[in-house]
Amino acid sequence: MSNLNELYQEILLEHNNKPRNFRKLEDANRQADGYNPLCGDRITLYLKVEEDVITDVAFQGVGCAISRASASMLTQSVKGQTLDKAEEIFDGFHTMITEPEAEVDYDALGDLEMLSGVSAFPTRIKCAILAWHTLHAALAGQGDAVTTE
Ligand code: ZN
Repeated sequence: MSNLNELYQEILLEHNNKPRNFRKLEDANRQADGYNPLCGDRITLYLKVEEDVITDVAFQGVGCAISRASASMLTQSVKGQTLDKAEEIFDGFHTMITEPEAEVDYDALGDLEMLSGVSAFPTRIKCAILAWHTLHAALAGQGDAVTTE
């Protein structure tokens, strides 16, 4: 963990200490739970989708700094986006952390690029991807909790 801490300590801790959109969204019309048993991360993601735009998004949960920071960044990056665009961001993020050699459009990812170092730590990838799988489940309207296993 030492390298990861050194490289990403600042941004991760900042998001971990002050997660963005960390609340229950009372008027959410999509919702899903995610669980990463490897680390114990749990997240509930709330979305408000109108037409095909994510007009609001929030999350609650307990987990490690990476899972919380990733969820916090997710809410910032998909809020106000169309569903298609959110899917594009998901694909780019997934590629970035699971295929370090692949070409990624970092412009489209914005701050999420700061989580790219997670790709060097296979056990932490699931922490970083948890919120995104949960987003998928919420948008697909799946009632069951998603798990990274
Ligand atoms: Zn974790």
